[in-house]
Amino acid sequence: MTQRQTAGGDVRLTGISKTYGSFTAVRPLDLTVPQGSFFALLGASGCGKTTTLRMIAGLEEATTGTVSLGGTDITGLPPYKRPVNTVFQSYALFPHLDVTENIAFGLRRRGIRSVKKQVGEMLELVQLGDFAHRKPHQLSGGQQQRVAVARALINHPQVLLLDEPLGALDLKLRRQMQLELKRIQTEVGITFIHVTHDQEEAMTMADTVAVMNGGRVEQLGAPADLYENPRTTFVANFLGTSNLIEGEVVSAGTKGAGTDIVVAAGGGRIRLSAGRCPAPVTSGGRLLVGVRPEKISLAHADEAESITDGRNRVTGRIVDSSFIGVSTQYVVESPAGKALQVYEQNIERDTRLVPGAEVVLHWNPAHTFGLDAGQPMDAGVESVEDAA
Ligand code: ATP
Repeated sequence: MTQRQTAGGDVRLTGISKTYGSFTAVRPLDLTVPQGSFFALLGASGCGKTTTLRMIAGLEEATTGTVSLGGTDITGLPPYKRPVNTVFQSYALFPHLDVTENIAFGLRRRGIRSVKKQVGEMLELVQLGDFAHRKPHQLSGGQQQRVAVARALINHPQVLLLDEPLGALDLKLRRQMQLELKRIQTEVGITFIHVTHDQEEAMTMADTVAVMNGGRVEQLGAPADLYENPRTTFVANFLGTSNLIEGEVVSAGTKGAGTDIVVAAGGGRIRLSAGRCPAPVTSGGRLLVGVRPEKISLAHADEAESITDGRNRVTGRIVDSSFIGVSTQYVVESPAGKALQVYEQNIERDTRLVPGAEVVLHWNPAHTFGLDAGQPMDAGVESVEDAA
């Protein structure tokens, strides 16, 4: 069994940025990745996540700022002198070497001749003991991936960087490998920094996710916290689906006193806790209120009176419904929003809930979050062309 490694320290990025000519790929960024954590940089293509990873690896020179590891500034060190290894999407295995020799490569390069014990430990860690003498082309994508991880970990890096390592795998194998990588990280205990554009992948594996957009980190936190408390419309739409309803603040609420914000929207009133709204709130001002599709229940309009008091409500008409096994997904047109999404678990289906039906959407105010209405509603990637 591989020993858990405790050497190293936090990875700290201070004011790190990258420009290519007049184009800013990464805006000045401060980020701390705690030692031993599984950290994900998540964002759409072109948001700057790979560039950030490459600056940590030393494969890209930072335009400004510093990278430190355990308090030591490593900004000026070349990649091979950093206690960091990278696993790429392409795996970059040596095709003419078998699994054992691919894994042993880093040790051999350092002149270590007796590699058997360490390679054996690595084979056990990535569960490839039976494949030790196969060449890469005789392995599945997932197995090649595991060889790449073992080949990096045998060097005992303090930090393992993973650049879309599961990108080439089909969905089922991706899911398996997500759990596998998480297990390996827990077992070895070193810091993993993982770059992905797949929100489900980031949420499955990482303790902390930094959501990047347009060269900056929009929000950082534990997956559940990001999902339940997005602070920007980008995060609300990039991590899962959100219904965002714009309205006018009727009552601004008070965080300390625990009184609710009340927003008039779509002909009704929506309540939310003042603590669930990071944006400034003023009476008479505009606010976006958000609620996730699975938090909403649908009632046929004839049943509206049976909805418990105190729940937020919005009326509408079903325009589309899709049965997807575990749930039925409805699209509802409403004065509050043209295409509100509702996911109902398929437990007891009301057969009247079909396109054309008049319905009431209702949900617990505790599941409502508030956002600044001044932000763009779409989750598209911002242009980061530097105006300066
Ligand atoms: P992807 O998931 O597609 O790899 P990413 O978020 O990892 O995207 P980066 O690879 O970090 O994005 O690139 C960020 C931006 O910087 C992109 O717009 C990219 O075109 C640009 N960029 C990257 N490398 C260079 C370069 N060498 N010269 C000019 N622009 C570059």
